[in-house]
Amino acid sequence: MSKRDFYEILGVDRGASDADIKKAYRKLAIKFHPDKNPDDAEAESRFKEAAEAYEVLSDQQKRAKYDRFGHAGMGGAAGGGAGMNMDDIFSQFGDIFGGTFGGAFGGGGGGGGPRRMKGSNLRIKVQLTLEEIAEGVTKKVKVFRLVQAEGVEYDSCRPCSGTGQVRRVTNTILGQMQTASTCPTCGGLGRSVKSKPKDSDEHGLRREETVVEIEIPAGVEDGMQLNLRGKGNAAPAGGISGDLLVQVREADHALFTRNSRNLHLDHYVSFVEAALGSQVEIPLLQGKAKIRIEAGTQSGKIVRLKGKGMPSVDSYGKGDLLVNLNVWTPQQLTSEEREVLEKWREATNFQPDPDPREKGFFDRVRDMFS
Ligand SMILES: [Zn+2]
Repeated sequence: MSKRDFYEILGVDRGASDADIKKAYRKLAIKFHPDKNPDDAEAESRFKEAAEAYEVLSDQQKRAKYDRFGHAGMGGAAGGGAGMNMDDIFSQFGDIFGGTFGGAFGGGGGGGGPRRMKGSNLRIKVQLTLEEIAEGVTKKVKVFRLVQAEGVEYDSCRPCSGTGQVRRVTNTILGQMQTASTCPTCGGLGRSVKSKPKDSDEHGLRREETVVEIEIPAGVEDGMQLNLRGKGNAAPAGGISGDLLVQVREADHALFTRNSRNLHLDHYVSFVEAALGSQVEIPLLQGKAKIRIEAGTQSGKIVRLKGKGMPSVDSYGKGDLLVNLNVWTPQQLTSEEREVLEKWREATNFQPDPDPREKGFFDRVRDMFS
């Protein structure tokens, strides 16, 4: 089955603003909501399709990826709304309809049903080394989060018969009108806690240290955020758990600096090696490599090692390692060494080019960006 274009599904053009996308989705979500279209498989699939499109287009990173790669770009570790279940979809509604859903649909005449709360999100930071980022890593992190305590019992709310809404019929000049509003007794939940363990709060929730496994895809960058749906705080009355938002921090490396997919390494060679040419060993993020130093190498020359850089979360292949060569000038000399060098002080070949930077500089710039 070929997938429809996300923009087409929401009926917006590719340049649509976030607000337009939200508005378009809101309209479709209301139109195809299962409460309004009971036992209508077509409506349900349109509802899910719209949710999936919104999931991607409402997220700047995912949207950029989709714009570049289409549906093919959505299969990877970080993206992919495919296979959203109804809970996922309803948890999206927090952003769309403000806080909770359910009540938003009650007024029109459909069922409505008790409202489900969404638990709050938790935020943590995870610090990663370049080595971990290069390979991808699974981190186990301790998180203090609210979980549903065991053995909580609920009572159905009487004033609203568990629906979370009270309806009132009023006579107006236009005839009888039915209005629905959130039940004041249970706050819309449709039930209240009847009994709960002592060490839990009034909603039957308890703060507990839990260990969360976080799979970090290779190639993430400092400041990126991973969203672990449902790993945040539990919600009262069996609502939807919040999310765990994981912010990636990249630790400084002793040898390498990273520039997106490329790595930079400063490496010193002796001026004898620089003049005569040589083969030297340099460290890689994993292992080592040998590089050739051409005879007559100047400081500032960059040697590029293709594919020895970092992977990227949203494309195949790796960046390069750029080795910035510096010529090491000895800081101490024995009298014998001094004697040898003194001999060459006036030699023509040892006199610097009056303007050697000119060419060297542009070579470097070209190397950096090519
Ligand atoms: Zn109630």
